[in-house]
Amino acid sequence: MSRILKAYQTRFRSLLGAAGARRIEQGVEWLVEKAERASLRGGIPLANSLTQVYEQLSARPPFQRARSAPAVIRFFCDAGLGGLARWLRAAGYDALWEAGIDDDELLRQAVRHSAVILTTDSMLMERRVLRDGVIPGFWMPPTLTIAGQLRLVFREFALAPRDSRCMSCGGELRRVAKEALQERIPPRTYRWLEEFFVCNRCDKVFWHGTHWERIRSELETLGR
Ligand SMILES: [Zn+2]
Repeated sequence: MSRILKAYQTRFRSLLGAAGARRIEQGVEWLVEKAERASLRGGIPLANSLTQVYEQLSARPPFQRARSAPAVIRFFCDAGLGGLARWLRAAGYDALWEAGIDDDELLRQAVRHSAVILTTDSMLMERRVLRDGVIPGFWMPPTLTIAGQLRLVFREFALAPRDSRCMSCGGELRRVAKEALQERIPPRTYRWLEEFFVCNRCDKVFWHGTHWERIRSELETLGR
């Protein structure tokens, strides 16, 4: 817990600092106490009440960062966030992920791909390159579900769902005439559906099956 607390203190500090607040340390202390009280009162884990306090604060005018989703944004999810990477791709964002990648390699790859690191590892966020913002990174509490992680990333980076990208690799999908793909599509699917897509990066074939429908309807709730 102390690591999560520390990560939030850092986040509060940068939020207060960016808004030009004075007496930042007292502010941080006050916010932590506020979260502790909410945690006790509501019987919710402190990690959750810290998230709430952060989100309430960052939604208020002096702290709200004037921003909209940049045209090109790419994420690099740490080794534990493979599920989030897949959902981000379904939501239309390029999200890289590698099983078992170590911290040094993760940092190298993020620089190479100009990607924002998403991580639940507060120790990683202590690395100077991340702490000083040389490499952009965003930490999220490890207690969140994948849906909660996705929601948090959407809010933090002011994202809105876009056309889905390849769930396997994050590449862009292009529409391809079904006749050209006949040999790569199961016969039943070929008969019933008209729209087929191929990933520009890994060449995988996609179509809007029931799995896709479920994911899209889940994503629709994000904008609300
Ligand atoms: Zn792909």
